[in-house]
Formats: sequence, C-alpha cells, structure tokens
Amino acid sequence: MFPVEENPDINRKARVVIPPIERVYREVSERIDDFEECAVCLTPEQAMEEASRCLHCPQPSPCIGACPMGNNISEALWLIEQGRFIEAAELYRRTNPMPEICGRVCPSQASCETSCVLTRRERPINTRALEAFVADYQRQTTGVPLPEVAPSSGKRVAVIGAGPAGLAAAEDLAVAGHEVTVFEEKPAAGGLLVYGIPNFKLSKDLVQWKVNWLADLGIKFVFNTRIGRDITLDELMEREGFDAVFIGTGAQVEASLGIPGEDLGRVHRALDFLAGANLPDHLLPEGKQKRSKIGHRVAVIGGGDTATDCLRTAVRLGAQDVVCYYRRTEAEMPGNAAERSNAIEEGARIEYLTAPVELLDLDGDGNVDHMRMIRMELGDPDSSGRRRPVPIEGSEFEVEVDDVILAIGFWPDPVIGETTKGLETHRWGLLKVNPETGETSRPGVFAGGDNVSGPALVNLAIAAGKRAARAINAYLQEA
Ligand SMILES: Cc1cc2nc3c(=O)[nH]c(=O)nc-3n(C[C@H](O)[C@H](O)[C@H](O)COP(=O)(O)OP(=O)(O)OC[C@H]3O[C@@H](n4cnc5c(N)ncnc54)[C@H](O)[C@@H]3O)c2cc1C
Repeated sequence: MFPVEENPDINRKARVVIPPIERVYREVSERIDDFEECAVCLTPEQAMEEASRCLHCPQPSPCIGACPMGNNISEALWLIEQGRFIEAAELYRRTNPMPEICGRVCPSQASCETSCVLTRRERPINTRALEAFVADYQRQTTGVPLPEVAPSSGKRVAVIGAGPAGLAAAEDLAVAGHEVTVFEEKPAAGGLLVYGIPNFKLSKDLVQWKVNWLADLGIKFVFNTRIGRDITLDELMEREGFDAVFIGTGAQVEASLGIPGEDLGRVHRALDFLAGANLPDHLLPEGKQKRSKIGHRVAVIGGGDTATDCLRTAVRLGAQDVVCYYRRTEAEMPGNAAERSNAIEEGARIEYLTAPVELLDLDGDGNVDHMRMIRMELGDPDSSGRRRPVPIEGSEFEVEVDDVILAIGFWPDPVIGETTKGLETHRWGLLKVNPETGETSRPGVFAGGDNVSGPALVNLAIAAGKRAARAINAYLQEA
C-alpha cells in the first residue's frame, strides 16, 4: 500500500507546522479588469511544499472518500512532494478524465478539502490547485498521451450532449473499443463548462483542448443537432443503427420567477447573459448577441453558483452597483462559499431575506427600471429541508435598477422525454434511472448528469458519465 508503507517514518508533527500557500487568486484590482482566470497557478516549488503538508491519513483517507471519482489524492500528493508531477497527473487521469477542469471548478471546500484532517488545525491542503498544477504541467511539457484503445467491438454508441457527463462517458466507451458519436445542439462541445461557467473560473481553451484530444481518440462530434427535434432518439437506434445511447443533456431550461414584468427589456436570463459576456462570437449559439457592457445598477436574483458568476461578470462589464437578492439567509445558500467571497471582494453585495414581487417600467420605455421588493423571514423547513422564506407583510420597498439578471434555477429540456418511446421522466422532467447504472426505463438507453440529478456539479456529472459507460459496456457485451 502507498504511501505510508513506502516511508513508514512520515513525520506528522513536522508536517502540520508547514505553512499553507498564501496567494491563490490574482489581486482584485487586476482581475476585475479582464475575463482571464483568477486563480494563480502554483510554481513547482510551491506545489511540492503544499503537497508536503499532507499527513497521509491511514487508508481509506477521508479526502479520497469525499471525491465522487475516488481520486487517489494521498498518493498523488506523495508524488507531487517529490517532484514526480507527470506520475501524479497520470494517477489523477486514471480516475478523472478532466483533472485540469476539476482542479479549477470543483467545490473542493465542499468535498476533499473539507474532509482534510488539517481543517481542524490550519487550512486544508489546497488539493484543487495541486490537481490543476500537475494536469497543466503534463499538458504543457510531455503532453497527454492517448490511451491504448481496445480492439473494435463493432458496436456503435450515440452520446447525446457534450457536457462533462457526455464527454466522460464518450471517452470510456471509445477506450473500450466502441464507435462513439456525440450529438450536441450547440456549435461547440463542453456543455456548461463553455456555455455557463465564465472564463475567470475556467478558460474555454482548456475545454477545447480536451475536446480535440477526444477527437484524436476517434470520437466523432456532430454539432448544431438537437436530438428530439432534428432527429429522434428512436431514429438514432432504429434507423441509424446505434446499439446503445447515453443521454447527458443537462438541465439548461431556465426557471422563471412567475411575477409581473419578467418580459421587460433589460431583464436577462443568466445563461444568455453569461454566454454573451464570456464567449467569442464563433461559439455563441444561433441568435445570441455578444455583450461588452451593462448598466450601472445591476440586480441578480438567486443564490447559487450561477448567481455568483453573474455578479462577477457584471462587475467585469463595468457595473458600479452590483447586488444579489436572495430570499433566504447565507446559511441556506447553495453555491460555493469561496467564489461568493471572491464576488464580495470584487465589489458585489448580497441582500439576504429579500425577493422581488414585481419588475417595473416606470418611465414606460419598455425596459425595467425599478423592482418592487419584499423582506422575508424564515419559516418551517420545506421539502428540500431548508427553512422556507415567508414574506413579511408591509415590508415592501422599491429599488432602482438598470439591468436585472434572473439566476433562479434550471430544469431539463423536455424534448427527449416527449419524443422517445418508453422513456420515463419524473418531477421537472428529470430522467428516471437506476442509480447504480444510469439505465433508463428504455432498454439500451442510459443517462446521467444534471438531467438525472437536477442542477449539480461537474465532478458528479463526470462520475455519472463514467458509471453509465461501465454499464453500457456490460450491456453491449451481452447484446
Ligand atoms: C453558471 C454556472 C456555473 C457553474 N459553476 C460550477 C462550478 O464552479 N463548479 C461545478 O462543479 N459546477 C458548476 N456548475 C454546474 C455544472 O456546470 C453542471 O453541473 C455540469 O456542467 C453538468 O454536466 P452535464 O454534462 O450533466 O450537463 P451540461 O454541462 O449542461 O451539458 C449538457 C449538454 O447537452 C446539450 N444538449 C441538451 N439537450 C440536447 C439535445 N436535445 N440534443 C443535443 N444536445 C443537447 C447541451 O447543449 C449541453 O452541451 C455551474 C453551472 C452554471 C449554470
């Protein structure tokens, strides 16, 4: 076993006093002027020093158990501390097909880092930055070799949706020897890695690098094709001869507030707003506009990662007064707390226990200019277990705004559920699957990611794609 057995004399007392790395983000004054990544890349020396803080807990390490993909973090840190960066990168890639991406967007504060025993004493190991460091190091030095592919199985698999779930499933299926075609409705692959998460968290070039790598592996990509409209899933199987299908279509239909004024001008849907501000013209979906500025007073409604990303994007577009309105308190907020702190450092504010009741166009020019708001208090827990926000009677007030961005939730596009025979869905159109295998009610059709769980996380989508790929492989061997 590794690594304690390789070096039984690990001096844990000496390790706990090694100071953690200090600077992990660029200075605020510099980063709000551009859309470049905020995280500062580690130097090799910093990486070795940070990794040498690991106490290498007896197996199973809590950090490994907390990673949805089961990354062998302890062993990787052992390799990093000795400068064996390529070996560490290869170790990550055995369980995670996208370590350079997860190393930037994983909410490690909510998984591996929170579980680190050093949290009790000092700061946890910055496992996220270390994963990104070695993955980048390998890419930029030796390159990432293509894996050996099994002999052709003669089977064809269609993957619908090129988000992290679909890409992870496609990779494992191609390596297993199946012919894989990914169908994607947008002009490029990546899902929310490209069409949601802004550049300052994750550069689009990194996602494109991974997509090119997958194409070199032999995976075919068909873009601008919406399954359920341009061709149905039944046609893929019955007419086009695909032996199995993985549906990784995510949850990108934006919820609405259901209040008057939502259709006014300058009321934006979060994903349209983020795409317009963050994407170069050639990646924009048809009919979407590039955006380079915004009004002075911007209100963002919602409380998750999407809301935080909208706040930070509005700051970068030059807004002076950027406020997030959230109807519960910080304790119930679903998004990543570290990114929220970044937004506040960059000048955004958060008003808790406040919700809009009407969006107003008082000067009659067709654009929103005020919001009527109401204060809330917390009542009993709702079905999600969080305390329900209850409006406080008589607490209404108005605020002036130039732009309003709605970032209040997503559900899956119903088109595949509606056009596929025997495919069962349940609340909000989520696909029903066997949680162990991703198998749907339709034989040979599997699913995973946000279209099964509802809006969640990149690492969970990747894990779901890999789980389904194993089940598809087993299904095809029996077919
Ligand atoms: C603004 C924002 C910020 C986020 N930040 C983070 C973060 O920091 N960290 C984190 O871990 N998670 C974050 N998330 C969540 C994360 O992006 C998602 O959980 C993850 O991308 C889900 O992966 P997926 O593959 O299931 O779906 P998606 O990434 O949504 O990909 C689904 C793909 O399927 C395509 N598609 C849909 N329907 C069809 C169809 N009928 N035919 C063909 N193609 C179709 C879509 O165009 C899309 O490309 C964020 C989400 C948003 C919106």
